[in-house]
Amino acid sequence: MYDMLCKGCGHRTAMSIIDRIIKEYGIKEKTIVFLDVACCSLLMDDIEYDDVMCPHGRVLDVSRGYKMLRKDKVVISYMGDGAAYAIGIEEMIHSARENFDIFAIVINNGLYSMTGGQFAPTFTGIDRKNIDSDKSELNFDKVLKIENLLKSFNINYLARCALTDKENIDFSYECIKKQMDIYMRKGGFCLTELISPCPTNYKMTIKENIDLIDENIKQVYKIGEFIVK
Ligand code: SF4
Repeated sequence: MYDMLCKGCGHRTAMSIIDRIIKEYGIKEKTIVFLDVACCSLLMDDIEYDDVMCPHGRVLDVSRGYKMLRKDKVVISYMGDGAAYAIGIEEMIHSARENFDIFAIVINNGLYSMTGGQFAPTFTGIDRKNIDSDKSELNFDKVLKIENLLKSFNINYLARCALTDKENIDFSYECIKKQMDIYMRKGGFCLTELISPCPTNYKMTIKENIDLIDENIKQVYKIGEFIVK
């Protein structure tokens, strides 16, 4: 399943969690997933319900337009951090400001992965060569933390999890399931960010990348639920 992705890619884990929740809710027939281009698009062939690939950074806009017409549908907006927090930051802010009915998943691996690993606004500066360097030289104070940006808006759900070990993946499942519960009961803007490995662009083994997240990146990005309504 999701064989187009590299080995150890966090997208596979993320989409498997979403698949499980859609199956548990029995909502396959009414679900449609809007995917950003780039590595998200590699999921398309294997998704077993309706999906649409959107222009880069425009997932939320396309999802909003569709949701306005089809309020009966479960609309999932799935994107990477470059799309969500750089190219698409405008629609992110205004969707949150309006508490628009959005079920958003953002994969945070710090990079524009498909185009070779250019830095997204989430890149911490920690990579293989500077993992032991003076942390004052790194990008910790400059990264975009979505909880800081969205905290002034009246949104319904916001969480961050990490796709690393069993404990963290189980917590990701619990958060996304709670996100789905809130979205199904009362709609509104609901977002879970998933810190994800991308061993290909970090040029690490899968274990090294997971250790990097657990030991370093999670110190920069707090794991947990920030808003639950
Ligand atoms: S480049 Fe990174 S994000 Fe893209 S499929 Fe490979 S591991 Fe996943």
